[in-house]
Amino acid sequence: MTKTKIWLSSPHMGNLEQVYVKEAFDTNWVAPLGPNVNQFEIALEEYLEEDSKVAALSSGTGALHLALEILGVGYGDEVLCQSFTFSASANPITYLGATPVFIDSEKDTWNIDPVLLEEAIIERMALGKKPKAIVAVHLYGMPYKAREITTISQKYNIPIVEDSAEALGSTFNGRKCGTLGTLGVLSFNGNKIITTSGGGALVCQDQNIKNKAIHLATQARDKAPHYEHSKIGYNYRLSNVLAGIGRGQMAVLEDRVKARRFNYNFYENSLELSSSFEFLNEPQGSYSNRWLSCMLTPSYEAREKIRRSLEEEDIETRPLWKPMHLQPIFKDNPFYTNGVSEDLFKRGLCLPSGSNLSEDDLHRIVNLILKVKL
Ligand SMILES: *Cc1c(COP(=O)(O)O)cnc(C)c1O
Repeated sequence: MTKTKIWLSSPHMGNLEQVYVKEAFDTNWVAPLGPNVNQFEIALEEYLEEDSKVAALSSGTGALHLALEILGVGYGDEVLCQSFTFSASANPITYLGATPVFIDSEKDTWNIDPVLLEEAIIERMALGKKPKAIVAVHLYGMPYKAREITTISQKYNIPIVEDSAEALGSTFNGRKCGTLGTLGVLSFNGNKIITTSGGGALVCQDQNIKNKAIHLATQARDKAPHYEHSKIGYNYRLSNVLAGIGRGQMAVLEDRVKARRFNYNFYENSLELSSSFEFLNEPQGSYSNRWLSCMLTPSYEAREKIRRSLEEEDIETRPLWKPMHLQPIFKDNPFYTNGVSEDLFKRGLCLPSGSNLSEDDLHRIVNLILKVKL
């Protein structure tokens, strides 16, 4: 019997996605606007609560770009950015001609370290460069230290772009991730907890900001019968066909969170006993969607042994994110480090985490890992 490939994080459709996609075709709303876009936004707004307003966009990267622009980031500015993240958290800073200044992580959540963050703010201010924004990330679905980071944001009056691309379905003290920052960002890329194949959203609590985001996302067209522009705009609105997938996915979001948390608990319970592996527990008040199940191995060599032996069995895993301050493209950027993310990158592995994994798949993966001689 040939075993099928196990992916790291594959899309998982429910029953309604094709109904809404068909509706788009039947009504000929095959365009970057229409009823599915509006209804998807409403579904997200109701889910997120806190009076959220949501603009559906073509990607999370586009949402980050618009969030930074709306907060006034521009040429020559500095933006503080979590170093331990996917490059899409940092790239949009450079689209605006601004410079990312990277901040390392703390050990409790693997996210931006409040101590280093405040040190960096004080030092940048002393250099006469007050940072324009803070990009904080809920990596792998684990909420960042929202209480500390928000306090710092308020103390120095620097807004937070909350990169919640990996954290739809996570909460902090009962509040949904995506609503914790000044502006929030979601992603519906194919590997995320729910997907529109490609898509994203900007989350705010102010209808005017939502309007501004949609204006910028639709080529910044002014009100006039002809095409009139007083600003540079973008083509960032979500397709009505893809928003149909999103509407269907919203109906199964809570199931997807449960399934991903089940995966994580299965790995932790099966592997922690071997005492070779470490897992990241949820701090008090944090609830993670466990987008990807991650573990720390004893060493880089051990990590690679496990990764390669799973690869031989057609099981996809991935090292944790390589920190931005170690990326060739950002080698000249300022950074504030403490060694945490570099160690996570060396020893960490993301295990298959799809909500469509079977218990047989999970048993197979765990048995293979336990067989590797470290
Ligand atoms: C996926 C992701 C993004 C970008 O989202 P896209 O929709 O793929 O553009 C941004 N930040 C993080 C942390 C991500 O994981």
